[in-house]
Amino acid sequence: MCHSCALRSHGAAEPSVCMYITDARHFLDEKGAIAARRGPAKAMAEFHAGLIAHATDFDDTGVLAPTCFKCKKTVVKFVMAQDDAILWSCPHCSAEGRVSHWQGTLWDLSDRPELGS
Ligand SMILES: [Zn+2]
Repeated sequence: MCHSCALRSHGAAEPSVCMYITDARHFLDEKGAIAARRGPAKAMAEFHAGLIAHATDFDDTGVLAPTCFKCKKTVVKFVMAQDDAILWSCPHCSAEGRVSHWQGTLWDLSDRPELGS
């Protein structure tokens, strides 16, 4: 486990090797869609898209957690950091990551207008 990485990398100059620091905007083209068409970059982008949708599903509409892109064995867990970054971790392979700047992406469900009254 490398939970300490999450703490160390917070504001630290040197990112930890065992933590995936991600800016969600980097996956997107100018239309806000996933830019990568194939390969690991696409898998990585789709994982993060799923993670953002899951993490922002505050109304619990049933968006499933994404499967770990690294080991593909199980779904990841997440917590919201105080600065709204999404911190995720895989209970199977201990991969961890931090996703920032997801707000306003296609998968940000938190800003949806409320249905009904
Ligand atoms: Zn994993």
